[in-house]
Amino acid sequence: MRIIMLIDMDYFYVACEELRHPEIKGKPSIVGADPKGGAGRGVVMTCNYKAREFGIRSGMPISVAYKAKPDAVFLPVDFDYYDEISKKVMEVIKVFAGKFEQVSVDEAFIDASSKVPDYEDAEAYAKKIQDEVLSKAGIKSSIGIGPNKLIAKMACEKAKPNGIKLVTDAQSRRFLAEMDVGKMYGIGGKTSEKLKKLGYNTIGELAKANPMRLIDQFGAFGPEMVKNANGIDDSDVIENYEVKSIGRELTFEQNTDDDRVVEKAIEKLSADVIADASKNQKSFKTITLKLRYGDFTEHLHSRSVRATNELNTIIQTAKELYRQSVDKSKKVRKIGVRVSNLISNKGQKKISLD
Ligand SMILES: [Mg+2]
Repeated sequence: MRIIMLIDMDYFYVACEELRHPEIKGKPSIVGADPKGGAGRGVVMTCNYKAREFGIRSGMPISVAYKAKPDAVFLPVDFDYYDEISKKVMEVIKVFAGKFEQVSVDEAFIDASSKVPDYEDAEAYAKKIQDEVLSKAGIKSSIGIGPNKLIAKMACEKAKPNGIKLVTDAQSRRFLAEMDVGKMYGIGGKTSEKLKKLGYNTIGELAKANPMRLIDQFGAFGPEMVKNANGIDDSDVIENYEVKSIGRELTFEQNTDDDRVVEKAIEKLSADVIADASKNQKSFKTITLKLRYGDFTEHLHSRSVRATNELNTIIQTAKELYRQSVDKSKKVRKIGVRVSNLISNKGQKKISLD
């Protein structure tokens, strides 16, 4: 049995701002574009729960937020500062992890199977993590616990704000059944629309679908979705080896939702990464795709592969990660391809020559 946790910081950017501006605590606060008295363009990046009481949400045009609450605290975005706090948070979490995978600036999965014997202890363990992140980094978090990443992620949604939600193996199916398909982790807006047209409105309905019927519409991702709807997710918590990695990034001149443009960029970046890897005589076992959207939210998607240095593997894997995880309700601003878990080819060559 695996015990997986997702630890997600609550209203992270605003929480960071509260650390250096304690006077804004308890006030409706928004990090995002300059509202310019209601004429500003751009969006709300993060807002706290006080701001949500006025109907303000992240991703909303800043002008709309301003109309809802003109005297809220509006703050510009400072990514360097949030990165700094994020590093502190992640250092705290790593200590508790068996395996550790950072998913975005304010979210990380841990595999705690080697750390706690059962679910009961897992809850107490999660509480410890939460307390430690708050006392050492000053940030409140929510934690989802489950038998896999999918359930942990979705449990975490229910744990917000500042809660802990445990969903056991036995509870997984029932936990998912009544939810809208669009709420399932990994299913974006366009996919959920398609699923609804096919008559699958809830995750429970999708769970009973014939996987073959979905192949026509979604390819290999179809049966995968049915598995997920049944609470099954075999994907591993993949450790990030940030220091020992080779990566390339590209910011599009214009934010794009054109798959061809993004996939072309993936090909180009992959070729550059491979060139660098072969120059350094490295193979790799992990491929990570980074997506930053127009609203500046950022996500990392990783997959393990058999040790390789083939261009084709990295391109195919990165494209699959893109197709499976892209949020089609947003446009992509920046994309990154990275390989890690590096292995030196020098030693291997020598062995084969001997
Ligand atoms: Mg968060």
